[in-house]
Amino acid sequence: MDRRTWERVDAYFTGQLLGPDPVLDAAQEANALAGLPAIDVSAAQGKLLHLLARTVGARRILEIGTLGGYSTIWLARALPADGELVTCEIDPAHAEVARANVARAGLDGVVDVRVGPALDTLPTLDGPFDLAFIDADKQSNAEYFRHALRLSRPGMMIVVDNVVRGGRVADSYNADPDVRGTRAVAELIAQEPRVDATVVQTVGSKGYDGFLLAIVK
Ligand code: SAM
Repeated sequence: MDRRTWERVDAYFTGQLLGPDPVLDAAQEANALAGLPAIDVSAAQGKLLHLLARTVGARRILEIGTLGGYSTIWLARALPADGELVTCEIDPAHAEVARANVARAGLDGVVDVRVGPALDTLPTLDGPFDLAFIDADKQSNAEYFRHALRLSRPGMMIVVDNVVRGGRVADSYNADPDVRGTRAVAELIAQEPRVDATVVQTVGSKGYDGFLLAIVK
């Protein structure tokens, strides 16, 4: 099966289960206009994040890696009016686009975009959060996971994106820092008694990749 089939299936289910979404379409247009890379989650994946946030009854969400705020909007939509989503972004230009997209989505009251390296921002945050979505530079995945754990409560969900990397994650000799960062977080979790975790491999409009899902005990 090839990528075109994955894309057609993604389009079919997105049409059936998600429906039109002018706010998110506008966010993607604004991202493209501003020259942001199209490395946000797909619509189906964004909806999955949204459903996960609702499943854990999220009132506070931590996101690491904002880009133009596409996944931010999906996640923030799951929050109650007095909820909070803190999202970390290193690139001020990305953060500016994200803030505009979030405001257009009517979510600026719950979303707090923090600009700077996430490893500088994270130590300044207080928990607990109910869900963390890790989707920034993959080399730092293990460090991000440690911070998410520090900021957790029992039952918190931690989602790490792009852990399959076209299958390259299974190659222990692969020197790509993103692959190494992904293997490092898997190895950390393997030794971490405070979480239960699994991986869902995904195909679709974003190719072959996957999410790591962990629950804090
Ligand atoms: N979560 C976004 C979405 O699905 O819409 C996509 C995030 S994109 C894959 C990764 C983002 O992480 C980029 O905007 C990049 O600038 C940001 N980033 C990279 N390194 C970072 C760091 N050290 N601290 C914070 N953000 C970082």
